[in-house]
Amino acid sequence: MIPNHLASHLKVKSCFAAPGLKQISSLIYNRMNEHRKFLKRCRELASEAGRSGNTPVGAVIVRDGVIIGEGIEATRPDNDITRHAEIEAIRDALKRLNTDKLRGCSLYTTHEPCILCSYAIRHYQISWVGFEHAVPTVGGVNSSYALLTAKDIPIWAPPPGIITVKMLSDT
Ligand SMILES: [Zn+2]
Repeated sequence: MIPNHLASHLKVKSCFAAPGLKQISSLIYNRMNEHRKFLKRCRELASEAGRSGNTPVGAVIVRDGVIIGEGIEATRPDNDITRHAEIEAIRDALKRLNTDKLRGCSLYTTHEPCILCSYAIRHYQISWVGFEHAVPTVGGVNSSYALLTAKDIPIWAPPPGIITVKMLSDT
């Protein structure tokens, strides 16, 4: 029989039992499939933008595995610089959810969100951001103006997690 003091130790340990390797692999696989699915939709939206004479950028906002906002780059027709795909997707999601924050949501986009879009993403407190192509000149992660990942702006909530290119690769 196991002595009492060891039995309680074992009980505590079993509460924190790690998932098996198979379980972890399947979780990662499912998550990667989700990333790919949403990136694929971004690419379709980007193509639509390209066909209408805009820079080919597309974005979606996802909550609980469901797309709740879509954006197609549309700056050209009205010469409106705020109509970047990411901001269009944010506008769509805010309207559909009738909310003023997007905590717990993920934003996927074909291109690294620029400084303008990064500001909007931080303001609306989007939790995760995934993008396919880095934009080293004005991107919110890879440029000198890393607004998307900045941690030194006191009025802002913590930065979103970045879904890396590696997680989106092989799509
Ligand atoms: Zn932008």
